[in-house]
Amino acid sequence: MAVATCAALAFACGARGVYHRVKPGETLSLIGDAYGVSYRKIASANDIDDPERIHAGQRILIPGARRVIEKPIVALPRLASGRSPSRIKPGDAPELRWPIDDAPVTSLYGPRGSRFHDGIDLGAAVGSPIRAAAGGEVVFDGVLSGYGKIIIVRHGDGYSTVYAHNRRHHVAKGQWVRRGQRIAEVGQTGRVTGPNLHFEIRHDNAARDPMIFLPDRGRAAGDGDRDVTSAGRLTDSPGGDAHDEG
Ligand SMILES: [Zn+2]
Repeated sequence: MAVATCAALAFACGARGVYHRVKPGETLSLIGDAYGVSYRKIASANDIDDPERIHAGQRILIPGARRVIEKPIVALPRLASGRSPSRIKPGDAPELRWPIDDAPVTSLYGPRGSRFHDGIDLGAAVGSPIRAAAGGEVVFDGVLSGYGKIIIVRHGDGYSTVYAHNRRHHVAKGQWVRRGQRIAEVGQTGRVTGPNLHFEIRHDNAARDPMIFLPDRGRAAGDGDRDVTSAGRLTDSPGGDAHDEG
């Protein structure tokens, strides 16, 4: 078998590296991305003619890699950046509730330095309950670079909501959640400067301004101090994030 030949002759193949055992659902390109090695290089190091045709259990040499990635490599959802927010809430949007009760908005959606902040940050203590902003299906529960532990809930009509930097998840991919259901705990995973929830709403995968979709938490709640829609109330507390989103 060609793989075994190259495996036995790893040195002669000119490619020191590690051996990765393919897990269900993994593709050569996902594996390549995870190891930072082009899939073509992996294919050639293993004499794989057709990169589409690898199978679970197969052992492949990852040239140049030093450490084996043991966790299953999953396809990450591609999150596109917003940048053209409309102030109009579309009629087909799901009715959202705030994902955390009484948490101040510490950072708004919009340009932030040279980057673009695709959601809002809600400052809250580690362990505070995060609730689904609307009912739907959990379509992602895992870790994304910068976002840390992240949950994505799909609601229908192309809408989904994103909850990031979590400490713990109470729901898993494939599970249906109802509006207001506790789905996670606030944490500080990913690139953050303190515990916070990074919350996004996406339509057809493009980020939109969550403040347009969330109910006004102003004086109707009976407490002017919680009028987070007033810019003067936004704090510069350490509960922010700084992940690469664009
Ligand atoms: Zn954020």
